[in-house]
Amino acid sequence: MFWADIIAKNLKDKSPHIVADGKTPSGKVHVGSLRGVLIHDLIHKSLLSQKAESRYIYYFDDFDPMDGLPVYLDEKKFKQYMGVPLKDIPAPEGNNSFAKYYADDFQKVFVSLGVEAEIIFTSELYKAGKFDNALKIALDNAETIQEIYQQVSGSKKKKSWLPFQPVCPECGKIGTTHATDWDGKEVKFTCEVDLVEWAKGCNYKGKISPFGGTGKMPWKVEWPAKWLVLGTTIEGAGKDHSSAGGTREVAETIARKVFKTDPPTDVAYEHILFGGKKMSSSKGLGSSAAEVAELLPAEVLRFLFARVPYQRAIDFDPTAAKTIPDLFDEFDRGQKAYFEKTNEDLASTWMASQIGDIKEEYNLRFSQLLEMLKNFKSEESILKEAERLKGDKLTEVDRQAINSRIEYARIWLEKFAPDKSTPGVGLQQDLSEDQKKLLKTLSKDLREEMSEDEIQNFIYNKGKSLGLKPLETFQAVYKVLLGKDQGPKAGVLVKDLGVAKVKEKLGKS
Ligand SMILES: [Zn+2]
Repeated sequence: MFWADIIAKNLKDKSPHIVADGKTPSGKVHVGSLRGVLIHDLIHKSLLSQKAESRYIYYFDDFDPMDGLPVYLDEKKFKQYMGVPLKDIPAPEGNNSFAKYYADDFQKVFVSLGVEAEIIFTSELYKAGKFDNALKIALDNAETIQEIYQQVSGSKKKKSWLPFQPVCPECGKIGTTHATDWDGKEVKFTCEVDLVEWAKGCNYKGKISPFGGTGKMPWKVEWPAKWLVLGTTIEGAGKDHSSAGGTREVAETIARKVFKTDPPTDVAYEHILFGGKKMSSSKGLGSSAAEVAELLPAEVLRFLFARVPYQRAIDFDPTAAKTIPDLFDEFDRGQKAYFEKTNEDLASTWMASQIGDIKEEYNLRFSQLLEMLKNFKSEESILKEAERLKGDKLTEVDRQAINSRIEYARIWLEKFAPDKSTPGVGLQQDLSEDQKKLLKTLSKDLREEMSEDEIQNFIYNKGKSLGLKPLETFQAVYKVLLGKDQGPKAGVLVKDLGVAKVKEKLGKS
């Protein structure tokens, strides 16, 4: 059984469900974050398909401070915003906030992958007072929370510490404030110069009500508060959060002991590896979600995440010669399994990767297309060759599918092709005398007005009349035109390259 269907099957009786996932929009979002988005989407959809009620909420933690500068940002411009909530920082371009800019960027990618989630910005929940109750509980139980921190993760806070950080009204930073003395209505706070290494406070001291969006809880407290406020029943996270004494355990203990609510079902998932190593967000090719989404059609990218159960790492190195062609092959096997009802797991995985209506389509193997793109100039020639291979007329759905795959094959060739040498060189020297004679004849007698089939037959008959076997005949043509022993149907190839050009080439051989 498909892994998401198993999870849904085990949980469907506890319906209705709120499936939640989220991210701090602190810069370009790494492709690894797509794994969480897709895992939750697949579970949500499996629940729906098993007739359970489910909502999928994706939250962006836009109230979090900027605590590091991505390498692609102008340090001069952005250094001043370290410690400021992401929602209050201007975007690198346009009029949106920094948080909204990168959230939109990421959201666009997952919407294109068919993910259907309700989007929430955490700061808006604070502003609307949705966290007020949780804030009061947390502040009233500050000591218990401190004890939990210490017992579970071993981290010790100052005795005066409160689970709340206001935005400093003087300098606008949230990462630098330290609140104390909760009196049931307000807290005292200082914007400390040296509270954190990555931002400087302004030393402002004041009193403030914690309610209605004046500040936020630290995230180990905010996480369980969100479970309470959203009513989350299923929320997984990267496996590293779920280790003993890790964030998850702290959050779950706070949920039970402080907010008196059951934590959601965890789905502790493994990461995406890049050629065996953990992919880093700061360097290298195609590591942002948006960049990887450009390399693959949405369904195939969905399939990449669906086919590996969440407990196992996905090893994805798009630069390795076989990674992407192999992925397409397995995707094609999934389609076959679905329509021929063979491998049920693979068929369900493929089905879960589909966006919109499921259509049966004929397509060429990705590796086949890569080969054809080296031989053919025009897409029409590829479609003709596809029709010959299919042995039947291409439907409109087939044509669209092939054309779309051609685009991705072109992208692959441009980015990753190991061999960019041009075809049509060398190899002529090992032609036999009869083969050379054949090419001379063809260079004189091929005519512009001949159809593909006529050219095909013409070449075949000329070879035959010279005593050549069909294999020898066509090999001679391929060697001169493509620089290798084999190729597509010769008639199609000659038309694609242009009869005049072909005659010229054959004449020189
Ligand atoms: Zn300040």
